[in-house]
Amino acid sequence: MRSRCLALSLYFSAALLSGCATSTVTNPVTGLQERTVMSVASEIAEGKKGHAQVLQEYGVYPDAKLQAYVNDIGQRLASQSERSELEWHFTVLDSPEINAFALPGGYVYVTRGIMAYMDSEADLAGVIGHEIGHVTARHGAQRATRQQTAGLSVLAATLLGVALEGAGVPGAGRVVGQVSQGVAAGYIASYGREQELQADQLGAEYLSRSRYDPRNMVDVIKVLKNQERFADDLARAEGRTPSPHSNWLASHPSNDQRLEEITQIANGYQGTYLDDSRNRYLKAINGMTYGESPEQGLTRGQNFYHEELGIALTAPAGWKIQNSKEAITLVNAEGAAGLVVKLVPAKAGSSHAEIVRNVLAPISGRVEPLTLNGLSATHVVGVRSDQQGQPQSFEATIVSGPGAQNYLLGYVSKDAQALRRAYRQMREAEASFRALTAADRAAARPWVIKTVPYPGGPGGGFASLAKKSPLAQAAEQQLRLINGVYGGGEPKPGQLVKVVE
Ligand SMILES: [Zn+2]
Repeated sequence: MRSRCLALSLYFSAALLSGCATSTVTNPVTGLQERTVMSVASEIAEGKKGHAQVLQEYGVYPDAKLQAYVNDIGQRLASQSERSELEWHFTVLDSPEINAFALPGGYVYVTRGIMAYMDSEADLAGVIGHEIGHVTARHGAQRATRQQTAGLSVLAATLLGVALEGAGVPGAGRVVGQVSQGVAAGYIASYGREQELQADQLGAEYLSRSRYDPRNMVDVIKVLKNQERFADDLARAEGRTPSPHSNWLASHPSNDQRLEEITQIANGYQGTYLDDSRNRYLKAINGMTYGESPEQGLTRGQNFYHEELGIALTAPAGWKIQNSKEAITLVNAEGAAGLVVKLVPAKAGSSHAEIVRNVLAPISGRVEPLTLNGLSATHVVGVRSDQQGQPQSFEATIVSGPGAQNYLLGYVSKDAQALRRAYRQMREAEASFRALTAADRAAARPWVIKTVPYPGGPGGGFASLAKKSPLAQAAEQQLRLINGVYGGGEPKPGQLVKVVE
């Protein structure tokens, strides 16, 4: 759950609703004339507006040195592009999501999540070069034009897709941080295959002009494919159905054909390339946050800590914690019942009585005052009207948390039996709601990427690094994954590798 205010972004609305005015521009990449609803000036204006929304939704990763490093790589690549005259912006977003995307006009983003999987500066340059390609070839503007031409049905479908993503579905089994977000979801979801291929080609070209080996594009795709495989393997090992991926690869044609095409493009280049790209990269990301950040809330074992909101929760044994932008949900092992914890917006009222009236709106019920770890709370069991006007029984607790914020703890279940079976543990979960204690604060330390020489010999290897790692699940496989040897293979003893501390 994020405390930032989040607005669903209807990014295209300005361009689309401004009428059918089209003009003609010369595509900087192809040199061909194309009809467009987005002039270069409006491309830049739209990009700038979207940029503010992206920063608000994701947050900027707070490390000026890393930002400068990534910006420097981006600027060098962009200066070799067909649109070097644009004012380019490269930003590392504070998100564990594995993603990269661009907005029209010269705005390019990589998450720290995707950076953890890159193994060299050239890998990162491959991802950035691809995104620069979308901008230089005006893919965003082309899509805006296509959508306007196609009419309102396409627009409605696009916006509905974004709305569904934005709404989030408690208990839907989404992994933390993998929910595609407003602006980005609108942008990354629907480039055509041809545009992706063109972005790959352009990316390879910019890499080569900047003395990076274009074959790194191929490595990036392979590593990210392994990440998907790992997520699926883990889901199956836990008896879950693998959820659809919403990372960078998922929004890009990730089939073997793309890999083949990129390999072909990359093999077409010959040259001498920078060879210290790996060491420089590993040095740059040393100390970078890995996984959830304190601003979004951290899950550690059965505990959830949210530093910014100043709250903590403990899930009953066997329960899972799901954290999304909208809510924290503690779900029981069978996935049939849970406790949904949400922030109550200030406009819903300040007293519990007001909130009960405005948010829960019971037709009938009983109200019982409670104290949860020193915080005043109101427990409500009652009946309310659902959206169809049908009576619906509900149970919820309103708590006055730290910082004059009110929280709604809602009991959700598949059916009445599931609620009965889970009831004792629901109350237990609810009773764990607390203001962060000193011990909680100490436990809420984010994980970071560190680089160490690979320990060879007997008793060494990734198994020994996994033993020292705080990663709770499949630590050895996760370390192999971020080091590009998920399927097998060993680094040389003494070679620098990434670990999570
Ligand atoms: Zn792309």
